[in-house]
Amino acid sequence: MNLVLLGPPGAGKGTLAARLVEEFGLVHLSTGDILREEVARGSKLGKLAEDYMDRGELVPDEVILGMVQERVDGETDGFLFDGFPRTIAQAEGLERILPVHLVVYLDLPEEEVVRRLSARRVCKQCGANYNLLTQPPGVPGKCDRCGGELYQRPDDREEVIRNRFRVYLEQSAPLVGYYEKKGLLRRVDASLSPDEIFRKVAEVLRG
Ligand code: AMP
Repeated sequence: MNLVLLGPPGAGKGTLAARLVEEFGLVHLSTGDILREEVARGSKLGKLAEDYMDRGELVPDEVILGMVQERVDGETDGFLFDGFPRTIAQAEGLERILPVHLVVYLDLPEEEVVRRLSARRVCKQCGANYNLLTQPPGVPGKCDRCGGELYQRPDDREEVIRNRFRVYLEQSAPLVGYYEKKGLLRRVDASLSPDEIFRKVAEVLRG
């Protein structure tokens, strides 16, 4: 089974993905995580992507599709796509790579997106996500899992968050209708707690 997580930035895709990977043994493919690694390494791809990311704009489709194709590496099953596809062109490109069996749409309004993302902190070392309002670390500034330093993503500042939401509405929200027409979409209210969201999605996956 290949699963796509769709929804605005801050809806909880990363948090849900981590639990689904643990429980169902799927291979997590987050294009945002891959791009951040490339930026940190200072690779050619990272240099190309950095400007788009800092502005909250989308990295060009052909770059993303090339990157996904490389990671999928001829396998056709068992992937959890997080933050991809983000445009109809990416969704069409994905279909040429492998089939999508289920799309979970985490639905969240703009004000809640801004509230959550402004409070998001990420571990520099292991990538674990925290939220100063709802899921604070035990020790301020330190990761509970690995002790790594927590930081605020440069694109989690309010003006960039608002731009990311606008980009989401214009370019990614049409994917909801696209996958609905194909009968693949399951809508989940992302204002529920992480546990409730996980339970609902796990139920769907277990059939
Ligand atoms: P994310 O961690 O998913 O919020 O992604 C962070 C940033 O990486 C986005 O704001 C985009 O600039 C870029 N990005 C991640 N995934 C994609 C994608 N599928 N298509 C285009 N740009 C992407």
